[in-house]
Amino acid sequence: MIEYAETRVQALAAAQQAMESMARLGISPHPNNFTVWYIHHSNRLPDLSREINRLLDLGADFSPEISKSLHDRFIGTSDESRTLADAGERIEHTLEKLLLMIGAASRGTESYGATLANLSGRVDGADDESVQDIIGVLVSETQKMIRVNRKMGTELSRSAQEIHRLHDDLDKVWQEARTDGLTGIANRKMFDRVLRIAAEDAETHGTHLCLLMLDIDRFKQFNDTHGHQMGDQVLKLVARTVETCVRPDDVVARYGGEEFAVILPDTPLKEAVDIGDRVRTTVANRRITNRRLGTELGRITLSIGVSEFALAEPMATLIQRADKALYLAKRTGRNRVVSQSDLDMTAC
Ligand code: GH3
Ligand code: MG
Ligand code: MG
Repeated sequence: MIEYAETRVQALAAAQQAMESMARLGISPHPNNFTVWYIHHSNRLPDLSREINRLLDLGADFSPEISKSLHDRFIGTSDESRTLADAGERIEHTLEKLLLMIGAASRGTESYGATLANLSGRVDGADDESVQDIIGVLVSETQKMIRVNRKMGTELSRSAQEIHRLHDDLDKVWQEARTDGLTGIANRKMFDRVLRIAAEDAETHGTHLCLLMLDIDRFKQFNDTHGHQMGDQVLKLVARTVETCVRPDDVVARYGGEEFAVILPDTPLKEAVDIGDRVRTTVANRRITNRRLGTELGRITLSIGVSEFALAEPMATLIQRADKALYLAKRTGRNRVVSQSDLDMTAC
């Protein structure tokens, strides 16, 4: 959870500033928008404030879409990931403590048992009956203790196993929150996050960053001809094929229905166009077959738009440029790669 300003006075000041900013920028007084601006003015999320300040410097229009994306990207996701991360940490911590307890308990039992065995050996054969009685009691008490300890050990290891399972489940939830259910590649949420981080990296290190937007050509027609299920298989095939064409550090994501995106860190525009073309030809060369019927369903092609990150620009603009290039690829015949530099040329 995001922590809020500690004192009433600070909270009031942040709330007033939030209302003022929202009124000044014409932002609708929606509770989500208020949360964004309240958190910004209470300096709780440096990432959010950095993005807001960047948008303010650019004189951006805080449209309902931009406001929603600020909330989704910084508040929605950070809340969720923090909850998951906290739970994960708590479980690890409990697990460690439990394992230590199990170890200590079994070591204690063993050494107590060994001492007793030694003691009983020493008094063996002694005449004094009362000593024998005491030893008898001690032995039976010890056996009881061993049983209790053994039970405790079993229970402790059972809870340790449960915690292990919980940990695995949490890992799965964590993973599922980031991947697309059908194709198993990064989902839109993950794409937004990775792109933001990649842009920050590019700014910090002065490196190139490119983006490919890919759209399957005439996919509606494919679905209409071969059925939605075959269409789903094609989406999986395209995702796998694109992944084989890029480097491990590049991120392939499902952007929407039959649209994919590839984030290419440390890549100049020309190289990104080459990668786009490699993706395009590889996909176009794959034969689509219905394995069950053993029939060939023809080929699938992609149209691809390429853009390169310009310092300090919002992610929406970078995506928009790749989208425009993609649109031009569609208009000029499909199954082709169009770069943002081709857009400049058509504008002349
Ligand atoms: P274009 O070349 O202009 O991109 O044509 P298109 O037919 O690919 O584009 P359009 O936007 O008209 O249709 C997209 C199609 O993608 C329609 C929809 O049925 C299909 N699609 C989107 N998501 C999925 C999905 O998850 N599974 C399947 N099988 N099809 C999907
Ligand atoms: Mg589309
Ligand atoms: Mg399409």
